[in-house]
Amino acid sequence: MGGEGVAIEAAGGLDEPGNPIGTDAVLVLAAIENADSGEGVLVLMDLGSAVMSAEVALDMLSEEQRARVYLCEAPLVEGAVAAAAAARVGEDLEGVAREARGGLQGKAAHLGVEQSQDTGKTAPEEPDTGSFKELRLTVANPLGLHARPAARFVLTAGDFDAKIEVTNLTTGRGPVTARSLNAIATLGVRRDHEINIRARGPQASDALAALQVLADEGFGDKAGTAAPTRSVNVSAVEGATFTGLPVSPGSTLGVVRRLRRPELEIPAEVSVDADDELAALEKAVAQVRRELSGTREDIANRAGEQSAAIFDVHLLLLDDPTLLEPVRQAISEDEWSAARAWAKEIDSLVSRYRSLDDGYQRERAEDVAEVGHRVLACLIGVPPAGPELGGPGILVATELAPAETAALDLELVRGIVTARGGPTGHAAILARSLGIPTIVGAGDDVLGLAEGVRVLIDGATGAIYIDPDAALVSRYEGLEQQRQMQQGAAQREALEPAVTSDGRRIEVGANLGSVAEVDGALAAGADGVGLLRTEFLFLDRDTQPTEEEQLTAYAAITQALGNKPLILRTMDVGADKPPAWLELEHETNPFMGLRGIRFSLAQPEMLLIQLRAALRAAAAGRRLKLMFPMVSTVDELQRARRLLEQARTDVTSAGYSTPEGIEVGIMVEVPACAISADAFAPHVDFFSIGTNDLTQYTLAVDRGNNRVAGLADHLHPSILRLIERVVEAARRHDKWVGVCGELAGDPRAAQILVGLGVTELSMSPPAIALVKDAIRRVSYERAREVAASAMEMVSAGEVRRLIETD
Ligand code: PEP
Ligand code: MG
Repeated sequence: MGGEGVAIEAAGGLDEPGNPIGTDAVLVLAAIENADSGEGVLVLMDLGSAVMSAEVALDMLSEEQRARVYLCEAPLVEGAVAAAAAARVGEDLEGVAREARGGLQGKAAHLGVEQSQDTGKTAPEEPDTGSFKELRLTVANPLGLHARPAARFVLTAGDFDAKIEVTNLTTGRGPVTARSLNAIATLGVRRDHEINIRARGPQASDALAALQVLADEGFGDKAGTAAPTRSVNVSAVEGATFTGLPVSPGSTLGVVRRLRRPELEIPAEVSVDADDELAALEKAVAQVRRELSGTREDIANRAGEQSAAIFDVHLLLLDDPTLLEPVRQAISEDEWSAARAWAKEIDSLVSRYRSLDDGYQRERAEDVAEVGHRVLACLIGVPPAGPELGGPGILVATELAPAETAALDLELVRGIVTARGGPTGHAAILARSLGIPTIVGAGDDVLGLAEGVRVLIDGATGAIYIDPDAALVSRYEGLEQQRQMQQGAAQREALEPAVTSDGRRIEVGANLGSVAEVDGALAAGADGVGLLRTEFLFLDRDTQPTEEEQLTAYAAITQALGNKPLILRTMDVGADKPPAWLELEHETNPFMGLRGIRFSLAQPEMLLIQLRAALRAAAAGRRLKLMFPMVSTVDELQRARRLLEQARTDVTSAGYSTPEGIEVGIMVEVPACAISADAFAPHVDFFSIGTNDLTQYTLAVDRGNNRVAGLADHLHPSILRLIERVVEAARRHDKWVGVCGELAGDPRAAQILVGLGVTELSMSPPAIALVKDAIRRVSYERAREVAASAMEMVSAGEVRRLIETD
């Protein structure tokens, strides 16, 4: 605990062969002289002769030396540990003695016993309150001193030359050092708890003033009021513990699972050199610190300081003396390897966090485990393993990135619940295509669900039930059976075309994000691929895909499709789809920023590579069409078309063939494009309406933000009117219109879209059979009537009621 700067000398036994038991004043004297650096020596003794020999040794010192030696009655072992730690942080001799006397407090608190009267007396009352400065505060943060405020507390306290301790006066926990995030976190400070901060040392007053300012600013949490993390405009399902936003239908019962790094195997110790192990520990910690700082900077650039702040928590863990010291001790004293000592300390810290009452504090166990895993991987010399589920169950996570969703182990994931995110965010879209019952935006409270808790989730309503009773489980089993029967019945006809009862054919395609999905989409009944999200094909790599690599992927899909059409959308990067292989600059409002065609036109070489690959893939005479995303001006479309011509010249001059007259379309995702569809129509062969983005831009609702997701209903009459406008413009120019946003996959909405004149619908494969079934059940004539009525409605709710009762 003292580190190298604190000299500790032992003076036990007698220097008499055959009679070693006792205490030798000369040995004590030598030990004092060895330890004395001029700043003072604290002498701790056990009973009897030890006390007398120490006094004799004191008499043998010069007067000047004697003045700086302190015989202390504190407990020998616990007192030595506490004294060493106090000396290390620069306490004076008085302070070191006081800490030594209080050495039993930690053990007493741990064992849950009151210290006896006598010990209480030995542990001094504060002798000189004047040397301590104190500050009392009531914590107003809605979540108390949870990870981020606690991290800011530790960072601020650490800036001053002062010894600072914190006590939770409301619960009586503490005092603990303000240098340890773990110690502060385990004080369990919640909203309205009163804390006492004591500081000593040259900068004690400055430290307290800074902590007061920090507290006044809500410890960096804005305004001290709790912003709702759940979605507004979504009514709770009766009886459910939580209600989130439904993404993918189906109900499922299972235990809560969190994404965790798997256990690493610690190599057996042959022989351990403590110095080497200590050096390895410092090196591993430094390396992980560098990596985390890099990630922090990256996230701060991409998503802003608030999102990056969680990495401060991770970084502080790497500096936490209450974590590192016991590890170092186990290495030097018990001769453990650094890996073994680190793993043991991390495991016990993780269990301590997991046993806390507070859900938010329990969440920190995952941060500790994450940092612990990375350092351990470094110590063992293996790359950190990707996060995975510890067993089958329902994944509960803060939010999933598209790449994380794509990497999930489908054998284990029975359902997904996320605290944040919207139902048309790209991770949700991927979960829907995987057919996993999914709920997003359920609010941060779901993160308090501990691993192993039984939950039932209903992906169709967003309801989450904790520990459901037998009656509820059996009701849901019945509903699920019914749903599967309906799905099965629709699936039997899925390979047949979708034709309305009065003979109007509607193409029903699949939205794909990977080559691996093609066979499943065809089996699900896809008439083709209405949207290939090419940016998803290369999610898991960190270098830009080459022309040849893209050609291979596109050709594999066209081949699997045979004569069925494929609409290849050029890469729609930016916003919530930052590929790992691209450095994107931070934008305050990325959904309104450089994404889709805007990005491609800013990086024409990247677009050219893709267009060349697509043109070469089209050579086999397959029905490949091209489509540009996020177009908002005719000029963008014309520039993209010129690049397509350039790509065609490149391909032919390189000796490859490519078919003439490939159909070219645009996505209608920006209201400007829908409103001015007439102006675009002469320059395109088709329009494909991306209702996910069209809804977010029309209703001004960020599609990834669950707090406002309840407002983003793609059945809002304003969206239907924009679709109608595009269809009319297309009709005047003899072009066709499809819909490839998530609205297309809602069987109840099919009649409206067909009635508006849309002739192609493209969706997540699991929805195909039911949408085809819905189309066959309606006549085009009736669909037009329903669509006309829907256009008269004033709210999405009214439109929903109309189609539900129809
Ligand atoms: C859309 O915006 O509706 C769409 C289909 O594109 P994406 O979901 O990939 O943004
Ligand atoms: Mg879009």
